[in-house]
Amino acid sequence: MNIVKKVVSASLCMCLTITMFGCSPKDSSTAATKKVSYKYNHELNMIDDKYRNYYEVFLSSYCDSDGDGIGDINGLISKLDYINDGDDKTDTDLGYTGIWLMPIMPSPSYHKYNVTDYYSVDQSYGTIDEFKHLVEECHKRGIQLIIDLVVNHTSSDHPWFKQATKYLESIEKESDVNISDCKYVQFYNFKYKTDQGGYAQVGNSNWYYECNFDVGMPDLNLSNPEVREEIKKIIDYWMAFGIDGFRLDGVKEYYSGGTEQNTEMVGFISDYVHSKKKNSYVVAEAWQDFYTVIQYYRSNVDSMFNFDFSQIDGAIASNLLAGDGMAFADDMVRIQNNIQRVNKNAIDAEFFTNHDTVRAASFLSYTPEKIKLAAGMNLMMTGTTFTYYGEEIGMTGSGTDPNKRAPMYWNDDGLGMTVGPPTMEKQENHFESAKKQQQDDNSIYNYYKRALRIRNENPEIARGKIEKIDSVTDKNITAITKVYNESKLVLLYNLSKDTKQVLLNKKDLGYSGIQGYLTVNGEEVTVDGENVTLPPYAIAILK
Ligand code: CA
Repeated sequence: MNIVKKVVSASLCMCLTITMFGCSPKDSSTAATKKVSYKYNHELNMIDDKYRNYYEVFLSSYCDSDGDGIGDINGLISKLDYINDGDDKTDTDLGYTGIWLMPIMPSPSYHKYNVTDYYSVDQSYGTIDEFKHLVEECHKRGIQLIIDLVVNHTSSDHPWFKQATKYLESIEKESDVNISDCKYVQFYNFKYKTDQGGYAQVGNSNWYYECNFDVGMPDLNLSNPEVREEIKKIIDYWMAFGIDGFRLDGVKEYYSGGTEQNTEMVGFISDYVHSKKKNSYVVAEAWQDFYTVIQYYRSNVDSMFNFDFSQIDGAIASNLLAGDGMAFADDMVRIQNNIQRVNKNAIDAEFFTNHDTVRAASFLSYTPEKIKLAAGMNLMMTGTTFTYYGEEIGMTGSGTDPNKRAPMYWNDDGLGMTVGPPTMEKQENHFESAKKQQQDDNSIYNYYKRALRIRNENPEIARGKIEKIDSVTDKNITAITKVYNESKLVLLYNLSKDTKQVLLNKKDLGYSGIQGYLTVNGEEVTVDGENVTLPPYAIAILK
């Protein structure tokens, strides 16, 4: 039998002092000496729209509140101030404006991408009342909350599937099936005596069911109007708690091989979600090539995950490793223009890593400068950005899926720490805990925090239309402008290990000075006349 097995997609700041030349590898004990002030703080300029900075949380590995080793809702609530405390006057949070919660509904698996009950919270995570509390606490802090919606398939333990298979096992011949005896037979895609790929046998019977991800994940029949009504009811249920939208899992397999039908279904869900709440947000996962992915924007889906920028071979890491700043600018412009051609309202969803990918520290060889610049390149992108939990402290993760979903490394005293997925191999983190990195001005954590702050100070970064600056011809340099509401930013990225001088015409580009910068070792970006000096791996924002 040919079962297709795939990876389950399944403040006003005080002047900040930065330690010069100190990275934070665990084994490095060299203390930094030189401190440099960061002079470019501005007030936050947040717009309450769909362009956000999302933080992806795998609840099970995030924070444990009751000591059973499994992360839970109350654990996440206790860490919301770490993500965003909602207080403009403090400078102690990361500055994320959205959270994507991986599946929280009851499920037999550790990752929960196979649901047995769409109307509850898995008991290891907490209760519905605790979930309600989470939504309130997120909204108090200006954080939008979206949750994973897994409706390509259910768990094979879902009552619909159990009733359907029990019925079919009692049926001898195909012609004996009577739908009025068991309507759930039409909730899935069953076939009689087939040897088709992607199908698995129902017990020892002559019946087979479609399961594109795993035998424990039977695909729903999304052409059945009754199934669609059930999906609307599920959306109603969760939106009644005030959540802000959904992340749609595995839409490529909604109608395997049928992008047009997949798009119609993504649109069906998006339209319904939008009809329930203003500014609600839907982002979908179609792990396919870019030109297929953008076809989904023919529907009203807000965002599609852009796999072209992710992982070791994506446009961020590959250009960074090749030192090709010009190609990175070209990639951003090309992708923007291709998306806009399909739908002017589309919001590109950029991510660098997620729960299905190798973590950045692992594929960037634990080099802090590269981990930081890659994060900066991602967080300066136009659209909505997604950061997978733990990337902000350079956590380790590669190999099997459980390894990529390791316990969030909060501290060395064990407080709130989880045990991780059952089959996870022990992950050796090369960088310090979140607690220690918070105290180190030059940590990966503080780089992320600065990048998010700059993003939250300058709405042009997420919303601006990108143009390449052709007068800059150094291959190592990314030179672009972003214009939003007639306000223009100039962005320069140095993708090399050398200090670079870039000549930029002030009159032509309409900038007067530095608006902010990101450097990997605490050095300063400076402007002398029209000469911008970029330290190694620096990003400068000029206005
Ligand atoms: Ca727990």
